[in-house]
Amino acid sequence: MVYAVDNQPPHNVVIVGGGFGGLYAAKALSNANVNVTLIDKRNFHLFQPLLYQVATGTVSPADISSPLRSVLSKSKNTTVLLGEVNNIDPQAQKVFMGDEIIPYDSLILATGAKHSYFGKDEWEEHAPGLKTVEDAIEMRRRIFSAFEAAEKETNPQKRRAWMTFVVVGGGPTGVELAGAIAEIAYHTIKDDFRNIDTSEAQILLLEGLDRVLPPFAPELSQEAAVSLRRLGVTVQTNTLVTNIENDIVTIKQGDRVEQIPAHTVLWAAGVKASPLGKMLAEATDVECDRAGRVVVEPDLSVNGYPNIFVIGDLAHFSHQNGKPLPGVAPVAMQEGEYVAALIKARLRGRKLPQFRYIDRGSLAVIGQNFAVVDLGFVKLKGFLAWFTWLFIHIYFLIEFDNKLIVMVQWAWNYFTRNRGARLITGNDILTPTPETDKYYSPVASRPTVNV
Ligand SMILES: Cc1cc2nc3c(=O)[nH]c(=O)nc-3n(C[C@H](O)[C@H](O)[C@H](O)COP(=O)(O)OP(=O)(O)OC[C@H]3O[C@@H](n4cnc5c(N)ncnc54)[C@H](O)[C@@H]3O)c2cc1C
Repeated sequence: MVYAVDNQPPHNVVIVGGGFGGLYAAKALSNANVNVTLIDKRNFHLFQPLLYQVATGTVSPADISSPLRSVLSKSKNTTVLLGEVNNIDPQAQKVFMGDEIIPYDSLILATGAKHSYFGKDEWEEHAPGLKTVEDAIEMRRRIFSAFEAAEKETNPQKRRAWMTFVVVGGGPTGVELAGAIAEIAYHTIKDDFRNIDTSEAQILLLEGLDRVLPPFAPELSQEAAVSLRRLGVTVQTNTLVTNIENDIVTIKQGDRVEQIPAHTVLWAAGVKASPLGKMLAEATDVECDRAGRVVVEPDLSVNGYPNIFVIGDLAHFSHQNGKPLPGVAPVAMQEGEYVAALIKARLRGRKLPQFRYIDRGSLAVIGQNFAVVDLGFVKLKGFLAWFTWLFIHIYFLIEFDNKLIVMVQWAWNYFTRNRGARLITGNDILTPTPETDKYYSPVASRPTVNV
């Protein structure tokens, strides 16, 4: 609790969301003469860049999660509240969690984004995305259940469908997922089954644009594609998914339409902002972009409401080069720190120049010991890039909790290709729907239709 200074009541900062943006804002405010209330619907901060490792059995969920209370236990001016904010009153300066009302002087909204199916929400049950711990566990269940089902399947076509893994979206998450599934099939579990040869698994990575890793330099995209193919992944670019239903993925490449029977379809394409963005837009008349991100001012505030800030994946900031900043952790972290500095400066009667993002580069890992790193002035690939990737992830993971042992253990598993966390939990093992079974007539193969 902060006490009034010079007879002024303490300034209340409410932060909604304890992801990268919200957490970094809270940490940067921990030494300030303000009361901070951090609200999150989960009681932990999730290190999303390693979610794919949970989905593919390398680490357990707890290894990449840190309880928000423990991360902020030394920030004596900060109260952590567990709850979901479902309304905002910008005029009355209040946020609502159901019946609970939390007043604020400054508000920081950092509720992030989730995957989007471009209006085809019905695809979600067939092709889960990766955003939460639950999503990762569901993906892990589907991946490892598929091999179990294939082991029991005697019909070769049906078995092939169990052994076909389709990853939609060739961005960093899709590339990392596809590479990790290839590692599993061709190395980790290759001696573990008796009726199937897991190295016959087919892993398809589908990308709508003309190259994987579109945010990276073209030569690194090229390297990534070569490395994926070397791992055994079939990379298909300029490929649009037009339907996902009954364990069949329909794709379109130019005029060519193909149907791919596959029980395991994983979604790594497209994001949409948290619904709080739209809610704020309706209450303030501020603009949202097509992905539902709130268009913010150069100081990350909302037009007409200088004490409301939107940061991270929820914000559309395009004051640097006309293009919106990407939805990556460093953007959220730097924005969180900037807004904290701005609030502190304002309380001292000072001003700050507008927010500027410092881009230190992009990284993506592809299977074992290979990564691509684009630092702008230098581009790395291969083991050195992988080591850089590992170092950066260790650095940021231990920053909010002591996870060094986890990372060392994980690095060891990585080298030895061990995936000890490949548990199948949750619902029953997948069974094909009656509609799927109809597909497997004796003559059925992967039909190609020219339109
Ligand atoms: C699978 C995956 C891999 C990624 N890999 C990388 C990578 O390698 N490198 C990189 O830089 N970036 C990566 N990203 C992107 C990065 O994780 C995001 O850009 C970053 O998390 C955005 O931070 P944020 O604070 O805006 O939102 P988030 O970190 O998503 O945090 C949002 C928080 O808000 C909470 N919340 C949401 N709604 C409410 C509500 N109504 N009330 C209360 N709380 C709420 C959530 O529980 C969550 O804790 C990845 C993302 C994913 C999903």
